Amino acid sequence: MEKQVFAVGERADKLCTKCDEERGHIVTAVTKRGQISYVSCPKCGTVSRFKLSSRTLPRLAVKTPSSYDRTLTYRAGQSMTHQMFGIGEVTGLIDPQKIDVLFQDRLRRLIHAQGQM
Ligand SMILES: [Zn+2]
Repeated sequence: MEKQVFAVGERADKLCTKCDEERGHIVTAVTKRGQISYVSCPKCGTVSRFKLSSRTLPRLAVKTPSSYDRTLTYRAGQSMTHQMFGIGEVTGLIDPQKIDVLFQDRLRRLIHAQGQM
C-alpha cells in the first residue's frame, strides 16, 4: 500500500464547519510520519484536526477562471488559472504586491499588481 506523505503548506480538502462548505485547507502541522495533523481554513482561519477519512476531493470549478496576470490586482477569494499550477484561489494578501494562492496541490506565493508604477 502506498503511503502518502504530506508537508506543511500543502493542500488538503475537507469540510469547514465554520464556513459550512467543502474547501481547500492548508496543512499547518504534520506528524513525524508525514501524516496531516492540523489544517487551517484560508477563508475563516479556523485551525482544525485533520483525519484522512474526512478528506474530500477538490471540487472542479464550474468554469475556468481567467488566466493569472501579474499586472492585475487580486483580492482574497478570487480565482485564477495559472499556466503551470492550474486553478487557484487567492487566500490572502501578503503585502501590496504579493498574494498567497491555494492551488490544487499546495499554497504558493505569487506577485501581483505589477502594472502600477
Ligand atoms: Zn472556513
